[in-house]
Amino acid sequence: MSASIPRIATIVLAKREARDFETALGSIPLLEDVAILSEGKAFEGVISESLTQADIVNALESCGVKADICIQPQKDRKKKLLICDMDSTLIGQECIDELADFAGVKDRVSAITERAMRGEIGFEGALTERVSLLKDLDITVLQKCFEERITLNKGARVLCQTMKADGAKTVIVSGGFTFFTQRVATACGFDSHQANTLIEANGKLTGGVGMPILGREAKLEALKEHSTEFGGRAAAIAIGDGANDLAMITAAGLGIAFYAKPLVAAEAHCAINHTDLRTALYFQGYRESEFIS
Ligand SMILES: [Mg+2]
Repeated sequence: MSASIPRIATIVLAKREARDFETALGSIPLLEDVAILSEGKAFEGVISESLTQADIVNALESCGVKADICIQPQKDRKKKLLICDMDSTLIGQECIDELADFAGVKDRVSAITERAMRGEIGFEGALTERVSLLKDLDITVLQKCFEERITLNKGARVLCQTMKADGAKTVIVSGGFTFFTQRVATACGFDSHQANTLIEANGKLTGGVGMPILGREAKLEALKEHSTEFGGRAAAIAIGDGANDLAMITAAGLGIAFYAKPLVAAEAHCAINHTDLRTALYFQGYRESEFIS
């Protein structure tokens, strides 16, 4: 019988609470290499071959502790490429829905966004339709929208900066728009960004979008392309929330569903549903003392 690869479980509590932390630590049978990644908040350890994710969820639930959990092979957990979706992942909004609000068509646009992110309708067609509803919007509204509506999700910058300091390449791949990815990339420190282009003429949006549209396949291609220099996609961590992120999430060495639609959460390696983007660092074995802001 060949020796199996040791698996490590990382547990990040929803709340930093000393008593919950001790309870959680005591409720999961960790075998060795137990490490406190952040006191009262996150820990990890090697688990037995028979222990499943459901066992850990049940153990935590039975003592009333909410946490995000990741089980993965112990080897090569620190990734060399960070590839992230932007809307509802790095930022708390869907840019197109916010723009639509300025154009007075938010209800129509956000209904289409929701269906597209759930995977109920095709991404490309949904994007074309929504952008057409922004026709004649003054382009100065884009900056106003960014300044007044867009907020970085907690941990976005720390995730990017900490991985960069450790030598990783950091990339945003978004089905949104370059106007926003450029600004979010700068705010967090991402090395590069890719997204769609809103076409403008005479100071107004034309209602058109640059072709080809960056959607699900383009995100997967970006993952493959950027990970080549690191020996392949096993070296990548991918994070997203929508159906158009699913291909890159399942193809990456570690794919994380971030407060994701059910379709995405069901197929990702692990999920963040209770905590913030810093959990993607804990899942790779980083300690809080190593975080860079
Ligand atoms: Mg998204």
